Amino acid sequence: MVLVPSRQAVIRIWCQVSLIFLLIFLAGVSYAQTAIGGEGNFNLYWPDRTYLWHYNPANKPEWLGEEEALKLVQDAVAGWGDCGVNLIYSGLTDTPPGSIDGVNVIGWKLDGKKYSAWTTWAAHRDGRAIEADVTLYTNIFNQYLGTGIDARLELNKSIIHEVGHVLGLSHSDRPEDAMSVKIRTRPEWQLPSDNDISRCRTRYP
Ligand SMILES: [Zn+2]
Repeated sequence: MVLVPSRQAVIRIWCQVSLIFLLIFLAGVSYAQTAIGGEGNFNLYWPDRTYLWHYNPANKPEWLGEEEALKLVQDAVAGWGDCGVNLIYSGLTDTPPGSIDGVNVIGWKLDGKKYSAWTTWAAHRDGRAIEADVTLYTNIFNQYLGTGIDARLELNKSIIHEVGHVLGLSHSDRPEDAMSVKIRTRPEWQLPSDNDISRCRTRYP
């Protein structure tokens, strides 16, 4: 026996199938509207001029006290205060840095290789930021300390550099800028530089 579906049933099934395809299509569009990455391609910005960040103290260097470490991070972040974005410390978190999970985290990891620090971000295609984390690689700063480099100063500069990325700044060719990739070479610089701040203000007119 072969059941011949009624005209109504055919229309109902057609509508259901169409709805499913529409939902799949919309999900695809919404996925394509967001991007996730690290360093490079910085057209992101914080649309309400606010970056709420949490601090994760896990894996911090042993030579840094708990309070000293947090203060060092807070002071470095505050260096961008003249950019025009509210950089608000929102307390401690257990959430690890470097994973896109809805929480902006500045924190530590132990498996750094080529870099002392790294920014991980998620943004809409039009640049509106969704999340940005800064990972500080404790093992690299331990190496600095071991070779006689002022590790606290390098930490300060690395954090300032990464927060520049968090705010949407790309690298700078000017060696005196915080956004230069070679910030480690001249310890006497005051960062961010006037040029860094001016570039940042251009992003947030
Ligand atoms: Zn960089």
